[in-house]
Amino acid sequence: MTARILVVEDEARIATVLRDYLTAAGYEVELAERGDHAWDRIREAAPDLVLLDLMLPGLDGIELCRRIRNADDAGVRGVLVIMVTARVDEVDRLLGLEIGADDYVCKPFSPREVVARVRSQLRRIARLQPAATDVGIELIEGAMRARVGACEVDLTPVEARILERLLEQPGRVYSRQQLMDAAYTDHRVVSDRTIDTHVKNLRRKLSDALSADAPITSVYGVGYRFEV
Ligand code: CA
Repeated sequence: MTARILVVEDEARIATVLRDYLTAAGYEVELAERGDHAWDRIREAAPDLVLLDLMLPGLDGIELCRRIRNADDAGVRGVLVIMVTARVDEVDRLLGLEIGADDYVCKPFSPREVVARVRSQLRRIARLQPAATDVGIELIEGAMRARVGACEVDLTPVEARILERLLEQPGRVYSRQQLMDAAYTDHRVVSDRTIDTHVKNLRRKLSDALSADAPITSVYGVGYRFEV
């Protein structure tokens, strides 16, 4: 089945480029120029995913995302939302519980990057076993080990907890703070650099077992995601 995407963007030139690329990638695309019109449209026929610009006439992207997440209709609440923003410092808030976007892309963006993010999010919901990934990385329950294809890899407790969190929702970006909260249950204060070091070690172990780059990518200024 073809996934349906609603592009909410008031700049006609950007909207057209996104529509063309997403259509070429095989998606069914609709455009909305105003936030309030997009909200009406989403309630009439919930799309699978909304690509949502932040600054919009009628209703801004943040308010529209909140309405989607708080909708009475479960079909509307479950719509995937990718925010389009010009400011990386807003991203933590956009992805946080209050607003609840699934992912974001930063302006200026390449249309190819947008298509990749859309595909990644749609694959995430299509996945039947959320803990299993294409490359076959999973945690072995009750042990500080991961199964990576045919290999088993020893992990430290902190690495295991970081991997567990990243695997909860492959494709989703986790901030360093969210990974710290997962990694340290005793609420100790650790620096961003500590998390970066643990992620680096985790990546190295997984990459060695895969004989390829581990599918954990760093998201500039924010944190990390497990690629799907
Ligand atoms: Ca705009």
